[in-house]
Amino acid sequence: MKVKVFVDKNKCIGCGLCQRLLPEIFALGETGLSEVKKQEVELSENLKEAEKNCPVSAIRLESLE
Ligand code: SF4
Repeated sequence: MKVKVFVDKNKCIGCGLCQRLLPEIFALGETGLSEVKKQEVELSENLKEAEKNCPVSAIRLESLE
């Protein structure tokens, strides 16, 4: 299933969890907050885990199907 990935920068605290799990999708930008490098991706277990475990629920996945 393809999804679109969003990070709410008003919520992100730059913990780095999403980048550690999925460096091909997330990167901590110059501000120290998460940025989405690749927005339309295949849903994976790691992506579900990042969404579920982000400490401030800043990651949102939108189904494209
Ligand atoms: Fe930000 Fe959440 Fe990623 Fe941590 S897991 S860097 S709080 S988006």
